[in-house]
Amino acid sequence: MKKKVRALVLFSGGLDSTLAVKVLEKQNIEVLALTFVGYFFGDTKAKESAEKNGIQMRSINFAEIHCEVVKNPKRGYGRAMNPCIDCHLLMIREAGKIMRAEGYDLVATGEILGQRPMSQNLQSLKIIEKETGLEGRLLRPLSAKLLDETEIEKQGLVSREQLLDISGRSRKRQIELVQELDIKYYPSPGGGCLLTEMEFGKKLKKLLAEIKRPSASDFALLQVGRIFWIDKTRIIVGRNSVDNEKLGELQETEDKLLELQDFSGPLVLVRGKITEDIMNEAKKITAKYSRYTKELDYKKLIFKIK
Ligand code: SF4
Repeated sequence: MKKKVRALVLFSGGLDSTLAVKVLEKQNIEVLALTFVGYFFGDTKAKESAEKNGIQMRSINFAEIHCEVVKNPKRGYGRAMNPCIDCHLLMIREAGKIMRAEGYDLVATGEILGQRPMSQNLQSLKIIEKETGLEGRLLRPLSAKLLDETEIEKQGLVSREQLLDISGRSRKRQIELVQELDIKYYPSPGGGCLLTEMEFGKKLKKLLAEIKRPSASDFALLQVGRIFWIDKTRIIVGRNSVDNEKLGELQETEDKLLELQDFSGPLVLVRGKITEDIMNEAKKITAKYSRYTKELDYKKLIFKIK
């Protein structure tokens, strides 16, 4: 009996990667969707999409190696702190390792020629293939007919005839395919991960400049409250009850957590070198961000510190 062709597909849960899975499944290829999880993006969207579309999915946590790419991307950043080309390369490279280790035949992505000017032009697509060591085994099912024929197509493992010729930024063709390929669910297109957000990018840049080896919890803290830096120490003020709860959860042994004893106000976390001056600054800030004490002298207030 002919062995079933097995493919790994990089899967974000969005429409393009869902289409890539379905185009291959239509050819009776066995597909495992791979979703990468790091400090700046999770797999919630992908899980939901996989479940609703009956796609077999595996999450791969590559936070540590991804973080190295974020700190020092060979090809630089996009508009914010998003190293999209290197990040994408890393995901494909990791998928390639799984392909070889587990005997898959190919790696596929939902990339579309010309959809993203920087990372999905003809030259970038070729560079990705070469740099990941996946020459001939990397397939872009949605644009394949516009690209050179791959080894896997030449060997007849994948029928080129049944692949697509989509290019450009319009989503018209993809939307038409939703019905054709019986796709039950896809989320509205998102702009990218946290790293593509300008404000977050600024905070991350500062963290990387001040802290040599940031921890998972340092990255998580970037997403909470208002951050004040005093040298290498952070004072983080919760803006609402959700922030306050998160600050409590993220507190580590060396951190201090402050709040006003007799008034409602924010929780404030201090991380870094803790001196008397820093604690006074933290108290001042804590008092300033409570509407009951913002006009009062912080030295006359009592703080709970743990
Ligand atoms: S948007 Fe984020 S997850 Fe996507 S390629 Fe860019 S850096 Fe990587």
